[in-house]
Amino acid sequence: MDPTIKFLLVLVTRSWNGKLKLTSKGRYDTRSDADARKKELLDRCEKCGLNVPDYRVVNPKQLKVLQEERTLVTNARRKKGAEKAAKTRAKNAAKGIKPTFICCPTCGAKSKMLRTEMGGLQTRCCQNGHYFEYDKWIADRAFWNPVVAVPMIFRKVSP
Ligand SMILES: [Zn+2]
Repeated sequence: MDPTIKFLLVLVTRSWNGKLKLTSKGRYDTRSDADARKKELLDRCEKCGLNVPDYRVVNPKQLKVLQEERTLVTNARRKKGAEKAAKTRAKNAAKGIKPTFICCPTCGAKSKMLRTEMGGLQTRCCQNGHYFEYDKWIADRAFWNPVVAVPMIFRKVSP
């Protein structure tokens, strides 16, 4: 934590999936400066007819409390996700479904999804740090249309 920070204006948001996000909107020497800026931002929102955002003026100690709260929320979300994944694995194992992984076209390691776009185009990264794009739609099609060549499914991208 930067000891020169006296007051911070922070925007606190909750995304649809429960993620808690803190966005810094500037640092101020006095609370009144920060409050003035907060009022300015809120006035602007009111004029646009937007929902009133949760701006908070905090000192470093209060910021730490907010960050700890965010960590708790993140950990709870991760725990829930891990439990759900464990349940799905158990269910699939009972049905005899083996997990499938999308492996890296360069080294064959398992990959994880970083982004997905409309139409099923995924940007993925493998365990060894290779980035590639994977087209879920073409990959699904490839099962009944063997004409679609593998190079079309995988396209390497630079990191
Ligand atoms: Zn790789």
